[in-house]
Amino acid sequence: MHLARFPRVFLAHLPTPLEKLDRLSKELGGPEIWIKRDDCTGLSTGGNKTRKLEFLMAEAQAMGADTVMTQGATQSNHARQTAAFAAKLGMACQILLEDRTGSNDANYNTNGNVLLDHLHGATTSKRKGGMDMQAEMEAVAEKLRAEGRKVYVIPGGGSNATGALGYVNCAFETVSQANDRGLVIDHFVTATGSAGTQAGLITGLKAINAGIPLTGIGVRAPREKQEENVYKLALQTAEKLGCPGVVAREDVVADSSYVGEGYGIPRADTLEAIRMFAQLEAILLDPVYSGKGAAGLIDYCRKGKFKKGERVVFLHTGGSAALFGYNAAFADDQKSLAAE
Ligand SMILES: *Cc1c(COP(=O)(O)O)cnc(C)c1O
Repeated sequence: MHLARFPRVFLAHLPTPLEKLDRLSKELGGPEIWIKRDDCTGLSTGGNKTRKLEFLMAEAQAMGADTVMTQGATQSNHARQTAAFAAKLGMACQILLEDRTGSNDANYNTNGNVLLDHLHGATTSKRKGGMDMQAEMEAVAEKLRAEGRKVYVIPGGGSNATGALGYVNCAFETVSQANDRGLVIDHFVTATGSAGTQAGLITGLKAINAGIPLTGIGVRAPREKQEENVYKLALQTAEKLGCPGVVAREDVVADSSYVGEGYGIPRADTLEAIRMFAQLEAILLDPVYSGKGAAGLIDYCRKGKFKKGERVVFLHTGGSAALFGYNAAFADDQKSLAAE
């Protein structure tokens, strides 16, 4: 398989750094923890969607699109990175935002990623939680097409086989970095939502027979459903890549025990993970994805599922812009400051 055969807009800051987290590793007293910094992909505060968009936006360009359209939750990092990419390429961007949390918080609804969507010149439009967002997008796209626009529709999270190529690329990149420094990776961990990141990673890892197990930490769907979504997309990605059948069902592991009440609602261990990374490593996680992923990582270390002497790589998928939509979740931190 040869990724250069696929059309791509080179825009991300790659390779992203692979760094050792000494203070966090020491605090947990278990395995050596490393971090793959995909929060540093360079596009409008970074994040994992940028790698996917390199391949998706190349398809949009190839079809002569003047408008891209996508959807996500109110504080969608994917929507923000799509808006930024569209601005860079001189395309219009239309975003549908689904109200998945029902929050009335002003910052949640207008700050963080929503502020940046608009700053990049995108048009946003809201939808009630639970609607068929793909159908909503198709309806709006048809209207725009009737007005003469050439619209390229990107699925939520950029998660189709084209977008997943971005994470095949990340798997190759990470293994190559590890090879260059003699780092044997025992486990790879990532937050998993719309499935493209995990599907691309596992396809890439299996395609080069890396022998590195990948654990997804779910942020929304229950385990069985999440694993099915990832597996289905991994099959399509492997097919597209020219190595069909390389991913087996048992290669796909998604642990959804850290979701809590639901998508976009942080738990106490999500907030603890965010504080630990911020205070021990000066790294900003987010309350929707990477905070839950890191809560899983920390719990696995504490429970001895990841053992002393092993090397674990945590993929930082980005999302820190969402912190500014979630300041209410950190009200206690602000109180303790005010009390001094
Ligand atoms: C979208 C997103 C994820 C999940 O990636 P998927 O490819 O949707 O599974 C993880 N972290 C952050 C910060 C994200 O924005």
